[in-house]
Amino acid sequence: MNEMKAQTLLGPKDVAELGFTLIHEHLLTKPPKVLAERDISIQPYEDTVLDSKEYAVQELKRFAKAGGRTLVETTPITYGRDIIGLVEIAKELPQVNIIASTGFYLAETFDKKWCEADVKYIANLMIREIKEGADNTTYKVGVIKAATGLFRIHPLEEKVLKAAAIAYNETNAPIQVHTTYGTMGDQVADMLKKEGVSPEKILILHLDTNLDKWCIRRVLEKGVYISFDRLARVRHYIPDEWKLKFLNDLVEEGFEDQLMVSMDAGRRIYWKSYGGGPGFEYIPTTIVTRLKEMGWDEKLIEKIFVKNPGDFLGFIR
Ligand SMILES: [Zn+2]
Repeated sequence: MNEMKAQTLLGPKDVAELGFTLIHEHLLTKPPKVLAERDISIQPYEDTVLDSKEYAVQELKRFAKAGGRTLVETTPITYGRDIIGLVEIAKELPQVNIIASTGFYLAETFDKKWCEADVKYIANLMIREIKEGADNTTYKVGVIKAATGLFRIHPLEEKVLKAAAIAYNETNAPIQVHTTYGTMGDQVADMLKKEGVSPEKILILHLDTNLDKWCIRRVLEKGVYISFDRLARVRHYIPDEWKLKFLNDLVEEGFEDQLMVSMDAGRRIYWKSYGGGPGFEYIPTTIVTRLKEMGWDEKLIEKIFVKNPGDFLGFIR
């Protein structure tokens, strides 16, 4: 049994108590406006601003009612992260554990200060946010976030990956890396492993945005976790049916210990409280039901939604 603890905003928690987990989500975001001008995926801008604590609580209540217990809030520093706001949400809803993140998003989001900061400065900031608290509070984060671009790792992104590895070596905290359309995942895994990061503490994100088995297998063969975390994105990407079938193929190939599922519902259109949907409960209800219809038993559901996230998130003895 895993006796490690994960670091939620309200304190360390036994991994065994984390329960059904969404590994990559957002509750409060405010991306830099300049990003919307450069990146069409950030448009319309208003849709990417999540600024209602009240609505976040409403969404989490529905998630909890559907059996959800833990949500990893992966909004990085330069995307409008709001630690105090998240703590207020967590206090209002103690039945859901919220784990916050340190780290950075794509190079395009770096302002002058972060362009100039060196690896050591960024690593020290991450370590401080994990060990002491973020944004001049005593509330600590439990995950490190980094990001890479489309078929490239920008020097600023490489700087963050190196800092993340230093912070991992100091704290054992897990690292999540955003990929752009699933590209560069294998190279990120190699780079982090070379810097001493254990593959069980690496999660390569968004691999369901490019359902290319050859690419995904190359990442999995590095021994790291991957996530299919863009379910319900029928508007932009690929039907959930293909993703679930694909996930099932990966299980049949023996990769079940390395897979996680989430929604990355960081837009108003995905929240019922903003008048959209399907809300976070979509994963524990619709997606789990569909996986069971495909023949998944309780043990396998537990592995993907409880055990793998818990093993990844636990880092405190
Ligand atoms: Zn995200």
